[in-house]
Amino acid sequence: MMRGFRQARWSYKGGVLEPTVFELANGRPGYYKIHTEEEIRSKAKSALSRIDTRKELNLPGLTESEVSRHFSRLAEMNYGVDSGPYWLGSCTMKYNPKINERLSKDPHVLWIHPYQPEDTVQGALKIIYEIGEMLSKITGLPHFSLQPAAGAHGELTGVLMIKAKIRDLGERRDEVLIPESAHGSNFASAAMAGFKVVRIPPNEEGLVDLDALRAAAGEKTAGMMITNPNTLGLFETDILEITDIVHGAGGYVYYDGANLNAILGRVLLSDMRIDVAHLNLHKTFSAPHGSGGPGAGAVGVVDEFRDYLPVPVVRKRPEGGYYLDYSVKRTIGRVRMFYGNFGVIVKAWAYLKILGGEGLREVSEVAVLNANYVMKRLLEIEGIKLKFGKERPCKHEFVVSLEELKNKYGVSALHVAKRLLDYGVHAPTVYFPPIVKEALMIEPTECESPYDLDNFVEAMRCIVEEARTDKTLVLSAPHETSVDRLNEVSASRRPILSWRMYKEKSDR
Ligand SMILES: *Cc1c(COP(=O)(O)O)cnc(C)c1O
Repeated sequence: MMRGFRQARWSYKGGVLEPTVFELANGRPGYYKIHTEEEIRSKAKSALSRIDTRKELNLPGLTESEVSRHFSRLAEMNYGVDSGPYWLGSCTMKYNPKINERLSKDPHVLWIHPYQPEDTVQGALKIIYEIGEMLSKITGLPHFSLQPAAGAHGELTGVLMIKAKIRDLGERRDEVLIPESAHGSNFASAAMAGFKVVRIPPNEEGLVDLDALRAAAGEKTAGMMITNPNTLGLFETDILEITDIVHGAGGYVYYDGANLNAILGRVLLSDMRIDVAHLNLHKTFSAPHGSGGPGAGAVGVVDEFRDYLPVPVVRKRPEGGYYLDYSVKRTIGRVRMFYGNFGVIVKAWAYLKILGGEGLREVSEVAVLNANYVMKRLLEIEGIKLKFGKERPCKHEFVVSLEELKNKYGVSALHVAKRLLDYGVHAPTVYFPPIVKEALMIEPTECESPYDLDNFVEAMRCIVEEARTDKTLVLSAPHETSVDRLNEVSASRRPILSWRMYKEKSDR
């Protein structure tokens, strides 16, 4: 039996209805109690007289219980990590332990102010210092900044440091090499820092093509940005050769740490000879993210880049206590106000404290096991194929192509993703990376039970069966969600944000 999260729905097009508060009140007027000064004075005179100064306003006349239930139902139109799993590849959407939330909401954390004197925020500085130390243990990179607000921001910080370093060396290197499978933010960060991007194509196995890399690396190479395992979920087994080629050409190697979940506790970035890296605390270390919610990037560097880190850097005094060091010699300056997204840092700190080294090894083990289990089972279904990595296990995620399904039945990756929503299953990432046609990128994370993994596979199997027998059902999906197929352009350009806008639309 399949289990799925069922969304509540708007009354917009029939189905299970949830009206607006105005429709719910059905003309019952709402009141607002207004006490004037005079009324209060007269009330004070005779304590028993009841003041009825209700004014009719244009509000719906609902009871408290009606309002409460209405908003509970609205909440059910949302989908969150507490509703079910997220299969979004590349995003590492883990369950967020509630204890971490509690700690970050502690008044001592919540109410501190960035302008407080250093000696009154020693605990906060200690947390930032300690997480830097823990990240150094995890990566082998000795120095960290916790300032960047997300992964992409960390990338920009990192490539700006590489740029400053190259300037200081008196060199004119203006190219950054990036594999075609990389996340779009890599290309954007390099370009924002003023570099020219040189794309490195994949070989037949979906890994960096060494010959292409050798041909591209040279005296113009400032560096390379690499993700390992890459976005296909495949470990770049030639990583040492890759870093050698880049270093040999005089460039630096930047590591996009968004996929760290696959290798936590297994291999150090320093062993891969990485110079600068970012980690996404909100992915690998389980702080909640999505819908533009807050993130935290951490940027780690080798000794050579120590003096380029953004200021301030949190340091420990030999006699005990912590302070903010603004005197970093060649700093690229500030990349964000104050000290980073502190609430997110606290959550990641708590996560690391609770799991410890052994716990982190288990994280990567189960994340990789879950991904391989789902991959194997999906590949038993008609029309679901691997383009890259056929001969080897994946790491924490994998990418399948639905090209065959599309050619045979006219059902695309987008259609399947939409139909999954009807089964109460969050869709995976679609059409990324662009080197795979009709791509579904799937990352279960270590948080999901075998039951939920099977549930996902079963939903996929049902949809492929429907593609064969009842195609229109899939092509016109979703049918069961709170809103149906959105026009993706007007959904972001002309969003409906108030009941007035909603009413205007439904009256039309
Ligand atoms: C998510 C991601 C990024 C960007 O990180 P944000 O925190 O979303 O800015 C970069 N690279 C890869 C591979 C990612 O998955």
